[in-house]
Amino acid sequence: MATAEQILSALREIEVPDLGADLVTLGMVQDVKSLHGIVTFTIVVKPGATALQGQLDAPVKAAVRALPGISDVAVHWLVKPEARPAAAPAAKGTPPGGPAGLPAGVKHVIAVGSGKGGVGKSTVTANLALALSASGLRVGVLDADIYGPSMPFLLGVTGEKPHVENDKLVPIEAHGLKVMSMGFLLPDPDEPVVWRGPMLAGAMRQFFQDVSWGELDCLLVDLPPGTGDVPLSLVQLVPVSGAVIVLTPQPVAAAIGTKTLRMLQAAKAPILGVVENMSHFVCGCGRETDIFDRGGGRIVAEHAEVPFLGEIPLDPAIRASGDRGIPVVVAEPDGAHAQAFHRLATAVQEQLLHASTPLSRR
Ligand code: ADP
Repeated sequence: MATAEQILSALREIEVPDLGADLVTLGMVQDVKSLHGIVTFTIVVKPGATALQGQLDAPVKAAVRALPGISDVAVHWLVKPEARPAAAPAAKGTPPGGPAGLPAGVKHVIAVGSGKGGVGKSTVTANLALALSASGLRVGVLDADIYGPSMPFLLGVTGEKPHVENDKLVPIEAHGLKVMSMGFLLPDPDEPVVWRGPMLAGAMRQFFQDVSWGELDCLLVDLPPGTGDVPLSLVQLVPVSGAVIVLTPQPVAAAIGTKTLRMLQAAKAPILGVVENMSHFVCGCGRETDIFDRGGGRIVAEHAEVPFLGEIPLDPAIRASGDRGIPVVVAEPDGAHAQAFHRLATAVQEQLLHASTPLSRR
């Protein structure tokens, strides 16, 4: 006889058109019951999305009927305004203990996400954080890229170990930022992290509850790429003021970035906008070359009806400064690359102003 977990697994195979994620991840499935081979559950849709019933009813039933011992499947399609995201965790390992809430003293949490790795998400996070800090804000960075924490490296603080004060971890200071990363906590940073949902959710909770962040105008969270457990845990644990999506301009990379954008949108994180990284290369002669194509970020932003926050050029100086642990905003504060990040920081603050309350200055 199929269990509720097996039924949810089958429903995870059903992708919701245009939202870039499956029914379960999007929190649309509720009240799964299985009794003597008869399965019932509710699928919650928003008023504008009632066409989904016509599109998905048959594949949903077929997916569940294919499980062993199922004789009948009854689906209740429920149209509900502020539908679900709070229910999304159920399938993906809801962090036990409910939301953690914002740490006292932290005004805004800003998530930085991407569709895939290697698009420069961490580089953008580090430089954006430094540009926000340079504008007078108190800024923290939480490196939640648990599988590949790179923030200690990018900010030149590898090998540092946070100490404990009053039962809380004290973040490492780097270039005026408060930084916490799984990279500081692993006994051997070269060992792969093989955690699954509940452990990841637990780690995320600790990052908010057990770290003394102090007074911060904003805490940037560098998410792992994709639409996995960590981004979901984040939006369940704390109110996210907004999310920034980093992508590179090629169509494929842009399309994958859209999935993360859609997932965060579905989970009710306001999208502050899209940044196109590695946008173009400016050679010494001043000529611009679009090595990875150009304009994908703007197109994604237009399609998703979210702001386009700007372009960051592709330049060896950005990579080299990160490799030295002194991001370009600090290494060459008056250079053209730093200016691109300062423009990005201004755009992020403007969007945050629309999405919520303005950032205050120290
Ligand atoms: P992600 O966090 O998306 O995996 P990283 O920030 O680690 O990506 O960047 C991947 C690589 O690309 C790093 O070597 C980084 O220095 C380099 N990089 C990122 N952005 C740029 C850029 N705009 N110009 C040149 N190199 C870049």
